[in-house]
Order: sequence, then structure tokens, then C-alpha cells
Amino acid sequence: MNVPSVVSEVSTDGFLDEFPECPWCHSDRLVVAHEQAPYRLRECESCSVMFVDPQPDDARLGASYPDAYYPTNADSPEVREHLHWKRFDLGRVWPHLPDLDSGRHLDVGCGIGGALVAARERGLEPLGIEFSEDAARFGRDHFGVDIRTGTLADVVLEPSSFSLITLYHALEHLRDPAADLERLTELLAPGGALVIECPNIRATSARMFGGKWFHLEVPRHLFHFHPDAVSARLESLGLQTVDCCGFHPAHGAASFYGSLYPAQSGLPILERARRKAVVTAMRAVARPLARFEAWLGTGSVFRVIARNDS
Ligand SMILES: [Zn+2]
Repeated sequence: MNVPSVVSEVSTDGFLDEFPECPWCHSDRLVVAHEQAPYRLRECESCSVMFVDPQPDDARLGASYPDAYYPTNADSPEVREHLHWKRFDLGRVWPHLPDLDSGRHLDVGCGIGGALVAARERGLEPLGIEFSEDAARFGRDHFGVDIRTGTLADVVLEPSSFSLITLYHALEHLRDPAADLERLTELLAPGGALVIECPNIRATSARMFGGKWFHLEVPRHLFHFHPDAVSARLESLGLQTVDCCGFHPAHGAASFYGSLYPAQSGLPILERARRKAVVTAMRAVARPLARFEAWLGTGSVFRVIARNDS
């Protein structure tokens, strides 16, 4: 689940104050890109980062997450699928980090902890931070991994102590991602690696679907980035980009079929079954589309690996 990094002020209307400038690069060249009442997405003309403005307060943001945001039924295929994809994700990172075989791993916004399991299997000592108590408890009980409930600001962590820090679809949920990246960089051990994967607002699919793009996920995705914005920020913090990948078979395909055929939850069972068949067929068609947009350099999801070579 999301990891709001700043506890919001108490507000009377459910929203925080508007940003006076871009919260990523501090430019005042802001335009409204999309409106999804009562929310508005603004885009910075200087850095092309997009963000919900004003942000919902904690109560409103929390209410925007459905109860089943993370699977917490041990026998469900969704739990097995979660673990499968987290193993896949970490497996794709490993060839870029050939000397990473020990040390501590931190996963921010770890959900039920699949990435922690995958890291443990590769010899690391994992620790997760997760805002959802239900997801954190399930991960601790079912997978036996160490997950602290709360936000990055809630957990005391020793500087320079992690060999690997991962944010899989977490950066876009943070209230102040610039500040959190600065802190995470300080937590990296010498030689440690930071891995960030999130939707790409410069994706071909984002341009195709506009305000209906699957990954906008208003208001839970408070920010929308692109590879240049994230890589430049990490390098300004002293890290070196090792790899940037623009394709993910699941998230990339979802940006096409999910934009055309949104959520199935809450539907009667026959309707869900019918939709599942449609989604399965669309997924098969969507995956090559996702690979093609990634080949163009504008994939729906990007993953950056950066190292602390100091
Ligand atoms: Zn900006």
C-alpha cells in the first residue's frame, strides 16, 4: 500500500494546501493536465513531472484504497501471483548487481512482503515498511518476514546500512518523494543499490489514453514520473545509474487492457467471469503492445537501478 511520508495537516475540506511550485524541481511553470473531480493533476512544464494538487488529506487518501488492495488470503491465487512477480522483479535486477550476495535489504511500500521473500532467498536480510497494517501483519505471519507498519518517517534506520533498497510501485504514492529519496540515499551502504520501478508518464500508452490511463490511479498515485526525472535526481544525490528498463510484462500490458477495460471488483460473479475471459484475451494482445512501446523508449513502466559508488 502507499507510504505517505508526511503526516498531513488536519484539514476541514479533505485536502491539503495547493503546491506553490513544483514539488519535484521548484519551478512555478505549472499547468492543469487532467481533472478527475474532485481531483486535479497538474504538470510541471519544466520537469514534466505530474502530481495530484491539492493532495487529499490522510483520511481521504486512506479511504481511496479498497479493502482488497493487497491479497491477504493465504490460499488465494493472488498471493501466489504476488510472490511470483516479486521473484521475477528481483531476478531481473540481479544480473546488474553481480557482487550483491549479502547485506541488508529494505523494501519501501512492501505490501505483503513478496520482495522480502525473494531477497531472503538470495541471501539478503530483508526489512519491509508498509502503511497497511493488514498487509504487514499477513506478511509477517505468512512469510515470516520483518515488516514495520507505518511510513519511512516512522521507522528508525541506521545510515549507510543497506546493500539494497527497493521501491516497487511505491515512489508515486509518497507525499514527498524528493525528500524520501534523499533519506533513502543516506541509508545506502557504500556500493549499495537503489531500485525504483514506477509508471512512466511519458509512456506511449499515457499519451494514447490521456485522463483514462490505467496508471493514473487518481488519487492514490500522488506523483507521475519519467525515467529522466528519476535518474537525474538520483545522480544529483551522488548515485550512478546502472540500468534503466522500460518494459514489464505485467504492468506494461495492464496499461493497455486496464485503460480499456477497468476494474472488475464489486461486480456479480457471472459478470466477473465474463470480464475475466475478456481480460485474459486482452492481456495476450496487450503484451506485445507493451513490448513495442518499450522498444520505442516510451514503455508504460520504467525501472531504474542506481548505485552508491562512493
Ligand atoms: Zn518540476
